Amino acid sequence: MSQSVCILGVTGSIGQSTLKILEQHPEQYSVYAVSAYSRIQELGEICKQYRPKVVVVPAAKVDELQQLLKAKKINNIEILADEAGLITVAEHPDVDVVMAAIVGAAGLLPTLAAVKAGKRVLLANKEALVMSGDIMMQAAKDHQALLLPVDSEHNAIFQCLPQNYLQILRNGEPQLGVQQILLTASGGPFLNFGLEQLKTVTPAQACKHPNWSMGQKISVDSATLMNKGLELIEACHLFSIKEHFVTVVVHPQSIIHSMVQYVDGSTLAQMGNPDMCTPIAHALAWPERIQTHVPALDLFTQSRLDFQEPDLVRFPALKLARQAMKIGGLAPAILNAANEIAVAAFLKQQIAFLDIAQVVEHTLNHVQNGVAESIDSILQTDQLARQVASQRITQLES
Ligand code: NAD
Ligand code: MG
Repeated sequence: MSQSVCILGVTGSIGQSTLKILEQHPEQYSVYAVSAYSRIQELGEICKQYRPKVVVVPAAKVDELQQLLKAKKINNIEILADEAGLITVAEHPDVDVVMAAIVGAAGLLPTLAAVKAGKRVLLANKEALVMSGDIMMQAAKDHQALLLPVDSEHNAIFQCLPQNYLQILRNGEPQLGVQQILLTASGGPFLNFGLEQLKTVTPAQACKHPNWSMGQKISVDSATLMNKGLELIEACHLFSIKEHFVTVVVHPQSIIHSMVQYVDGSTLAQMGNPDMCTPIAHALAWPERIQTHVPALDLFTQSRLDFQEPDLVRFPALKLARQAMKIGGLAPAILNAANEIAVAAFLKQQIAFLDIAQVVEHTLNHVQNGVAESIDSILQTDQLARQVASQRITQLES
């Protein structure tokens, strides 16, 4: 039977890769709803090709989209607006699968709505899980949602874990013979830059990732290694494991997407060419497998696999994220909010590259941590952390 898919963040890098997969399997999947925050022209093209029933955009873009659809003679698409619209489509009874591919905290409530509606949720929007942690995981359990990782590392770990791993009860300790998770990192575009060089790197350099083509925010996160920090927190929640069981391994070729070590001395790795279509297809079809256009690995041309430890002096963001996870409570939400603000300021050239981790550290030190007891308390702390981070940026600018 055909599955009906809702793609939150369809104009982004993950959204586009998702469409690519769906296009290859028209008999298995149909597009029910899509959302975009900007790039309305591109959204118009997507509407023309995929004919979703509903489209969600910011209220300020509704007119523009309406005109565009009229000009393209498309007249049977419903347009909804803002967060309320995102939530409506994410929990809609006609939707089977939700691709959560909005970037940042903006994706939290729609993703949670999909989880609470018991959907198959393909999680790309790691910030949503970093912020809400236990609340999101508990909601998935309570509402029998299938929360499947799209982040390539977590998808790889999921593939290397025992089949029933997500179903068994755990207390933060690895189970079923699992000993350790090895979370791989490419190291980003500045892997071999010294501290002096890092002081002057530009947004354009930071957004030019050696192996992956991604949105701007995650590209900067990959350059600071905050992406790996967020992924460390994401892994702890997804696989219900304490942070000291997750080791970060720098692997510049991005061929191994992560590994799981077992007590018998086995290390299982998932490998493939670095293309997000593979994890997206895996999460869409799991436990089955569907075809993608991604070519199989050619190990004769890709003969080297290198590994090294991350340098926490040049890339302190990873250390901050690990500390935030260890402390727990609202700390990961504070870390995430400060990072979103700092990355936006770096992209606007208001602060330098090394200031990003500085702003995050300052914010962690100046916003009171506490128990993450509800989504409201998380959102309040998110707002407060954004204010503190913005103030710090103003200080750094003057
Ligand atoms: P992107 O910037 O390319 O796309 C983001 C999408 O979210 C766009 O469709 C945009 O319109 C929408 N959006 C942005 N701000 C919004 C807001 N305030 N409200 C509603 N919608 C908004 O980002 P991306 O690279 O596709 O990444 C999306 C998510 O997936 C991120 O959380 C990222 O960390 C994660 N992820 C991406 C990759 C990758 O290879 N790109 C890999 C793993 C995980
Ligand atoms: Mg990743």
